[in-house]
Amino acid sequence: MMTGAKAHPGHGSRTETQIERLRQTAMKYRRLMEREREAKALFAITDPRRIAKLRREGINPFDIQVHCDRDEERLWYRHLRLYRRLWFHPEALAIHAEFLALAKQWKGREFDVDLYRVAVHEAGHAIMAVLLNQLDEVKHMAIRGSGGHVVMMKPPEPRPSRQQVEQDIMFSWGGDVAVSLFGYPVDLDARPVRTRGDRAQIFSLARKHLDEPEKSIWKLRDQTMRMLAPKKVRGQIQALALALLREGKLNRSEIKVILNESQAQHEVRKRATSP
Ligand SMILES: [Zn+2]
Repeated sequence: MMTGAKAHPGHGSRTETQIERLRQTAMKYRRLMEREREAKALFAITDPRRIAKLRREGINPFDIQVHCDRDEERLWYRHLRLYRRLWFHPEALAIHAEFLALAKQWKGREFDVDLYRVAVHEAGHAIMAVLLNQLDEVKHMAIRGSGGHVVMMKPPEPRPSRQQVEQDIMFSWGGDVAVSLFGYPVDLDARPVRTRGDRAQIFSLARKHLDEPEKSIWKLRDQTMRMLAPKKVRGQIQALALALLREGKLNRSEIKVILNESQAQHEVRKRATSP
């Protein structure tokens, strides 16, 4: 048999090539497995300090390959998307830390940062309605799929007063202003690019009913900002957004209950921190 082997002079080197190939494949798999372990450690559930460390070490999220079975796939990609976003927006790390704190209250379910943004947006509208004494016109608010809405019951007004128009504009600003207060990137200087949506509504109301539409639009945006910015109000937005994420839909009386609870908690905290 030995002579037989010798009769094929190329055999030895071919074997070496095969072994080398196997070794490389094994190394590749090991690297992949390490990456996967790394990714798992990283993503489930992401520690902002660890992400900051990986950033410093220069581990690029686009180098990470995630191999998993189908059920897990969606979850993995969501984590990967989040990591990629955090990678490109280091300032988002601070927001993410806040999300993690919120996620602790979020029992048993996957905390979705994109959906939280939608919930904050809708909560911003609803809190503006509260601050403008229009809560009785809110029928319900809901979040479904990747979108949300607040339904107002308002009879159409052919000749609204200036104050009514301004209030409607501030209500429309509430969504994007709240989102920006929660640290999400949003362009508050942008003009409408579509014929529908908050920005289109703001511009069309101002142009139709106000003498100096341009001036009013930005003045009312800043006024909305001042109304939503106080810590107590942001606490209300957060409470409402979390409840909306949890329940999917809230009617007016449920909104009232949540705001009363948030108010009570705010007072407890205030008493605890005051000397
Ligand atoms: Zn909106």
